[in-house]
Amino acid sequence: MKIKTGIIGGTGIYDLPGVEGIEKRTITTEYGDVVVNIGRVGSRQVAFLTRHGEEHSIPPGEINYRANIKAMAKLGVKQIFATACSGGLNMSYEEGDLVIIRQFVEFVKNRPASFFTGKENQGKKIAHVDLTEPYCDDLCNILLKAAKDIGIALKDNATYCCMEGPRFETKAEIKMMQALGFDLVAHTQYPEVALAREAGICYAAVGMVANMAAGIKDEHVITEDVQENMAKIFHNVQSLLIRAVELTEDDRECWCMTALEGSFA
Ligand SMILES: [Zn+2]
Repeated sequence: MKIKTGIIGGTGIYDLPGVEGIEKRTITTEYGDVVVNIGRVGSRQVAFLTRHGEEHSIPPGEINYRANIKAMAKLGVKQIFATACSGGLNMSYEEGDLVIIRQFVEFVKNRPASFFTGKENQGKKIAHVDLTEPYCDDLCNILLKAAKDIGIALKDNATYCCMEGPRFETKAEIKMMQALGFDLVAHTQYPEVALAREAGICYAAVGMVANMAAGIKDEHVITEDVQENMAKIFHNVQSLLIRAVELTEDDRECWCMTALEGSFA
């Protein structure tokens, strides 16, 4: 049976109680091997992988985003729910808030961001995939419904600013992002979301506000504090993801799945 639904867990989300019968599989792709946990939510199979590796040891700029998305595609995944531990920029947010990401802006450096690059693409065309709405509206609506079903608060419409990391941002950077109207800042949504679109996979992400970003509060951003806040919202995020999987039909159709057609110059 093909696995249609995937979950990519960011910082703090290293396992998923509620996924049963987990079996680890190594998926070989042309970009590298990826360890994926395959399990069940009810009668549905899901593939779960941890973005930073099983030991949280891969920094944002070194994550093999192409291998991760390709591994999901090879398993047959057509829809991905992801989590993104973030710094809050929007002053109406509080630590512990969950927010649906709808847009991104990126300032990353040297991350392979397309499947249609390099030697392996020689003689082929370049893909200019449409990312007007980078996140799948249908999956975002499923997340909103899931939150309602289980009675947890989920905000909507965040714009996520993707920085290179792994360092946290400077006060000046945060001031700039706030002036530009961004809501969240972190390091890993790009190019993951863009690669999913190229792979014809619907993609939605829940931002978790682990702390308010640098300079907003009159204190330093301490990684240990960020992790402590994460632990508080961990349970809610897990429940949200499981309910979202339950609500997602295996045989849904969506524009994201055919977005690559017509993308070649
Ligand atoms: Zn979609």
